[in-house]
Amino acid sequence: MAKPKYTSHVGMVDILPDESPKWRALEEIIHEEAAKFNFEEIRTPIMEQTELIVRGIGQLTDIVSKEIFAFEKGDSHYVLRPELTAPVVRSYVEHHLDQRGGSQKLYYIGPMFRAEKPQKGRQRQFHQFGAEVIGSDDPVADVEIIALMMRVYERIGITNFELKLNSVGDPESREAYKEALRDYLRPNLDKMSDVSQERFEKNPMRILDSKEEQDQAFIEDAPVISDYLNEESQQHFTLVKEYLDDLGIDYTLDPHLVRGMDYYTRTAFELTSPDLGSQDALAGGGRYDLLVEEIGGQPTPAVGFAAGMERLMIACEELDISLADEKSVDVYFVTLGDAARKFALTHLPKVREAGLSATMDYKGRSMKAQMKDADRENARYAIIIGDNELAEGKYSLRNMKASEEDSLTFEKILSKLAGV
Ligand code: AMP
Repeated sequence: MAKPKYTSHVGMVDILPDESPKWRALEEIIHEEAAKFNFEEIRTPIMEQTELIVRGIGQLTDIVSKEIFAFEKGDSHYVLRPELTAPVVRSYVEHHLDQRGGSQKLYYIGPMFRAEKPQKGRQRQFHQFGAEVIGSDDPVADVEIIALMMRVYERIGITNFELKLNSVGDPESREAYKEALRDYLRPNLDKMSDVSQERFEKNPMRILDSKEEQDQAFIEDAPVISDYLNEESQQHFTLVKEYLDDLGIDYTLDPHLVRGMDYYTRTAFELTSPDLGSQDALAGGGRYDLLVEEIGGQPTPAVGFAAGMERLMIACEELDISLADEKSVDVYFVTLGDAARKFALTHLPKVREAGLSATMDYKGRSMKAQMKDADRENARYAIIIGDNELAEGKYSLRNMKASEEDSLTFEKILSKLAGV
């Protein structure tokens, strides 16, 4: 085939008609499960002010230093949203959602944009679903967030995953830990990767996140944050673990799990799947008690997760899970002649009003070609109409699978179809 004149941008993919049913099915599951947990949907703009994203995530994280799509128009600085926690918090603060009372339990589904190098499971436009509880520091909120995230995978049938759990403490615990970490790493710093050296002063905890081969030996025996948690953080973490145990949710403690964003506090978690290859993170999240204030609101504790939908789709493929039924249409009108075509066109609405899907040929094709098309469309029934049928007022209703035909009035056809 000739090379197309236009293509989508690298790392930005079309969701084609064959694939959209499974996306819709997934979205439906997310809406349903979120509703069961009594979360409300929030939809925010695709673009945000650059400053919101930069301040919200912190200067040093990968997202800000290299992965953001940003541009200017007039005096405004726009970014395509790379994630939704900061935008949701922006919306919470801007619209005083705290005044609705209670904790705000919000969820979202939508596209995110990161200028990363595309590979399997990593795109420049990708989709996330996620949820946030804003206004509670109760470990119950952490655990409900994790439970909602897990529930979506469970419902789909993806159960082959690992939930990694850590506490990154509060600022006080973290200062003590960062000091200890720097003391431990300092003697070998010159042997470590450039990225890690860069992170050493401002954000040494992110060194633990390094994927660089040369860093691994030094990371392995590094001090762990759990030894540096103050009493409050420790108590919180103990309860999170206890409640997860109560719910029968398995987890692995991973003392090296630190999240990419600087505003995370205390609980951090990540869901990984062995079915995903190198990009094995299905979802991740944690507590971010410092973000609301950073964005201009009152100090407000919060916790949330974000899950990658493309990765979920890849896991489904690996596990042979189909989210949506094969495409089909209930009724295909097969016609011969202009009068029959007109009959079909004016009777399509009646079938649709009865709650069924219905279509007809748009190309004036032969009856044989229309039957073939009905097969291709996976039609359950064909209503076959020619001059004789019109004169008689009875039409052939063909059950495509059983290859059976009945000659019936249109009213009889409708009542028969309504009953199946
Ligand atoms: P993060 O906001 O980085 O914690 O990402 C949350 C989840 O989104 C990850 O666990 C992935 O499943 C997914 N994700 C992140 N970045 C990408 C990307 N570039 N392409 C596809 N999925 C992604």
